[in-house]
Amino acid sequence: MSIFDKFEDIRNILADLSQGGQNPLEVRFDDIRSPVEGTVDGKRVLLFGTSNYLGLTFDADCIEAGVQMLRQCGTGTTGSRIANGTYTGHASLEKQLAKFYGKRHAMVFSTGYQANLGLISALAAREDHLFIDADSHASIYDACRLSSAEIIRFRHNDANDLARRISRLKGKPGSRIIVTEGIYSMLGDTAPLREIATVKRETGAYLIVDEAHSMGVLGAHGRGQCEAAGVEADVDFVVGTFSKSLGAMGGFAVSDLEGFNLLRVAARPYMFTASLPPSIVATVSAALKRIQDDPSLGARVRANGQRLYYGLEKAGFSLGPQPNPVVAVKMPDRDTAVTFWKYLLAEGVYLNLALPPATPGSLALLRSSVNAQHSDEQIDFAIAAICRVGRRMGLIEAARFKQPVKQAEKLALPAE
Ligand code: PMP
Repeated sequence: MSIFDKFEDIRNILADLSQGGQNPLEVRFDDIRSPVEGTVDGKRVLLFGTSNYLGLTFDADCIEAGVQMLRQCGTGTTGSRIANGTYTGHASLEKQLAKFYGKRHAMVFSTGYQANLGLISALAAREDHLFIDADSHASIYDACRLSSAEIIRFRHNDANDLARRISRLKGKPGSRIIVTEGIYSMLGDTAPLREIATVKRETGAYLIVDEAHSMGVLGAHGRGQCEAAGVEADVDFVVGTFSKSLGAMGGFAVSDLEGFNLLRVAARPYMFTASLPPSIVATVSAALKRIQDDPSLGARVRANGQRLYYGLEKAGFSLGPQPNPVVAVKMPDRDTAVTFWKYLLAEGVYLNLALPPATPGSLALLRSSVNAQHSDEQIDFAIAAICRVGRRMGLIEAARFKQPVKQAEKLALPAE
């Protein structure tokens, strides 16, 4: 008997994944050269699975700001802000975020995961009721575990189902708190925020929107799906991450509500963990400034998402419901997805393999994400590679993508 016996199923899955080439869960990059190129096992690959939506990880201003602050303030804060104090950078980033969203208050967390954990678990107490979308991210589900509120799941992106479930609580005390996301990370679909905001208004509920995958991507100013849907005034709390469009690490929540700052001493995932290093805070602040100064970044990543989506749709693949920078190709089963992923890596394209239980509806997905730095040629190269593998595996008809494949096949990855 071993304490790890309970992981026997996982052990078998890992053994399966390791057969016949690279284990998708153990990819090791020898080198990352830019937001779009890396090296795996000595082979150059194009990166189509990063969530680095604006491609800011190598932005010169962000790097310079981080390096300067690293020299000035050292490598880390070594403690929580409640115990060890706040650095100037934390406070000024919170001001910058509040201003960006046009809200009165902002709180910076050490990760986006902790932002959801902290905000949701602190807001939703025993007498309250949390309504979460069935396809919510793990951090939202884990926040529910940490909260003592009643948890009610509503059907994915179904505002009518949400309204029905809220109405069943008639007469019961406690706050109703709705949690949704901007863009959903697995299928790349957006939440119907206008309809959800109407339910919120009609029922007197609070509304939290996690814009992890939509900040910097959607909305004329990059404020996400809340901005794109025109519902910012209805949203009580926006949550987000610095680990995607802002190219670094950390999370945040913003709100206009009086009392928001009480969360600093009520949210355990804020209180009991070290605060972000000032160098990270500086890169995030510079990246946020880039979003504000250059709206073309958002336009570019949206256009790139459409190019990849429509290219794959035309070829006959089954995709998520709408074009966004997250483009998911649905695979018939897990084994096909794994083999497809391995062939694709050999073709020089890296993307994410997403398998149940991390996926909605137990789907096996090849999940790709474009960023603002991908060129048209690189996207066409990825489409051509996906089509070649799709044809080889009998998943698409050869005829449907004949011409574009021929053109794109001429492109090659840059020489070593
Ligand atoms: N919310 C959503 C919707 C996410 O997809 C993620 C990360 N994948 C997070 C929160 C957590 O973000 P972080 O990586 O900053 O912890």
